[in-house]
Amino acid sequence: MTDFAATRRAFHLPQGITYLDGNSLGPMPVAARDRVARMMADEWSEMLIAGWNKAGWYVQPRRVGDRIARLIGAGPGQVVMGDTLSIKVFQALSAALRLRPGRRVILSDSGNFPSDLYVAQGLAQAVGAELRVVPPEDVEAAIAPDLAVLMLTEVDYRTGRRHDMAALTARAHQAGALAVWDLAHSAGAVDVDLTGADADFAVGCTYKYLNGGPGAPAFIWTHPRHADAAQPILQGWMGHDAPFAFDLDYRPASGIERMRVGTPPVIALTALDAALDVWEGVGLADLRARSIDLTQAFVAGVEARCPDVTLNSPRDPARRGSQIGFRHPQAYAVMQALIAAGVVGDFRAPDVLRFGFAPLYNDLDDVERAVDTLARVLRDGIWDDEKFRQKAAVT
Ligand SMILES: *Cc1c(COP(=O)(O)O)cnc(C)c1O
Repeated sequence: MTDFAATRRAFHLPQGITYLDGNSLGPMPVAARDRVARMMADEWSEMLIAGWNKAGWYVQPRRVGDRIARLIGAGPGQVVMGDTLSIKVFQALSAALRLRPGRRVILSDSGNFPSDLYVAQGLAQAVGAELRVVPPEDVEAAIAPDLAVLMLTEVDYRTGRRHDMAALTARAHQAGALAVWDLAHSAGAVDVDLTGADADFAVGCTYKYLNGGPGAPAFIWTHPRHADAAQPILQGWMGHDAPFAFDLDYRPASGIERMRVGTPPVIALTALDAALDVWEGVGLADLRARSIDLTQAFVAGVEARCPDVTLNSPRDPARRGSQIGFRHPQAYAVMQALIAAGVVGDFRAPDVLRFGFAPLYNDLDDVERAVDTLARVLRDGIWDDEKFRQKAAVT
């Protein structure tokens, strides 16, 4: 059994705060602060340029990728780190599209995160492909024989709805298409099994449930059957077969290395590496069971005590990730009032109160405090105040 009391102690959780926003930015693992300080003191300052070899900065994107592999059902040598998720979406989607010459349709859904859709739109315009966007429940029926790539985010950032990755991938394969999965709200939140689902490409970020810190780099996975065939469009020097030969022509590195683009963010990767220590000994089945306990308790508590909100997530835990949304016509002000009272979730337009439950550090006490506070904010109309209506740049 995973010791979740121990994993909770590994984080700095500010006094007086119930943090249910780890689906946007995970809290800081205490070890990350010390690890980064040590890296600055021992590596960057003392080793200077030699750190690329001596401190292993150059191989860090693969080494850290191997640590993430276990959490997403991938094997060693199949995952590499770098860039932001939006860039990795482009990298995976463009490579998948090139593996289906003669086909030009990309299918996604309206529950996808806008950045993924924007990237797909830009790519489609640039290469003469077509992006089709359908409601999440219509995806399966929209998989047609002209499909090149099915590009989906497994867990919907707004509702928490979880797609059936294995079933939809199988349908895409039957149609002769490839499947690209975004795990932004899955990695570290649910029991992802890329190999079992037979997916083709996957990407995800590490600052949400993996707690790598603001701006932590994304990961990309390629199924081994494509690893030496995939041709990324962003052909950066770090993905070259021999970066330090400085050839004038691109020649892809073998395997997942070709998905690298430029210089990796070493300081951010150092923080992430420390954050991944917390995952040692965490079983994914335990993670999933605890996530379901927490979300079920939250739904039951809110529905019993807050008649003004309506559930905006699937009721069946098997069909959702590790977050719960509730709708309220004044959701923005309600969330601001909730945050002022020490319960941090977030608001997603137009009317959703969103709460992420991270099994590594959230527990049933957090659920109870969140339910109590939400019930009070709504019952007493605490949210109905001008100061809670002022919108900040980042919501
Ligand atoms: C959080 C998130 C992103 C953010 O992309 P960045 O490039 O890291 O800013 C993209 N896609 C999905 C599905 C997300 O949930």
